[in-house]
Amino acid sequence: MIRVLRDLTGSFLLLLLIAVLATGAVAATDDYTLPFYDPAVTLSYGVDRDPALNHQLDWTGQVWNDGQPHYGRVYDQHSGLDYPMALRSDLATARDGVVIDREGGFGTQQFGSFGNFMLVEHADGKRTLYYHLASSSDGGLAANVGQSVVAGQRIGRSGCSGTCYGAHLHFELLVFNSAARTWLSTDPMAERRWTTWPGRVPFLATYLRENNAGTEVVAQGKTITHWVEFRNAGGRTWRNSGVPGRLALGTWNPAYHSSPFRAADWSTAWLATLLDSATVTPDGTGRFTFGIRGGPVPGSYVETFNLLAQDVRWFDHARLGSFYVPIVVSNVTK
Ligand SMILES: [Zn+2]
Repeated sequence: MIRVLRDLTGSFLLLLLIAVLATGAVAATDDYTLPFYDPAVTLSYGVDRDPALNHQLDWTGQVWNDGQPHYGRVYDQHSGLDYPMALRSDLATARDGVVIDREGGFGTQQFGSFGNFMLVEHADGKRTLYYHLASSSDGGLAANVGQSVVAGQRIGRSGCSGTCYGAHLHFELLVFNSAARTWLSTDPMAERRWTTWPGRVPFLATYLRENNAGTEVVAQGKTITHWVEFRNAGGRTWRNSGVPGRLALGTWNPAYHSSPFRAADWSTAWLATLLDSATVTPDGTGRFTFGIRGGPVPGSYVETFNLLAQDVRWFDHARLGSFYVPIVVSNVTK
């Protein structure tokens, strides 16, 4: 059975608070989704990982020593990722964070040494930059300084402000280098923390079905088998081995609580099961099969679960809804 919480921001924050209290900390995701929504948009030039003039190193490890631009890969000393797109295309936040700076005073297509941008800081101190945006009066900036944003949230619109020779987004992932005491652009593609699905948050699921969406009746001390299926609505492939990012079905509300319905196939009192199959690609269907054991006291119960990308994050509860299983534990009759 599915329960979707819509627009219950207070409840969502309370659930987050409960999760924090239960675990001590919520691990931030270190994945980045593409900062736009149109799947037809492709990279024109990526980050040059070799800082020397006339030497280029792209995210695949290929080297050029010619100083020439190589479309689809890299141009010399380029500090970001360029994505050509129509003017005023919607842009997405690449990762959860807080807007710490912005500029929207230049014209949407005003050429110059400086242009419109948004700068977002993330939980681990890294920053993402969205540059060449449309003017603020043209809808270029969709968030204010100090505002929290989540991965996949609309953050603005594309433009061609600044040193721009055609409408595109210039995106940078910035890491503070303490030796150089400056922010340096790094390449999320080389780090393999880049989703391939435009505008999608890394981990998101939508509920599809269960073997029994009604009440499960189980006798005391007996175990029944239950399964639930979710569609992979995020940008990352789900896996059932390795961390971070292994997909688990755990107890929820509060997270990690010890379930009285733990069966022999649960690895812990809160971890009902891992993803059944080895992988589920985006838009694929993942099944989670687990036992429900009748506890010692007969009665009617509800047990609540949610999906967890292990060592990364719980799935966004407000947007997917957890699911719960009504359980009736019956008396053992002779
Ligand atoms: Zn660029």
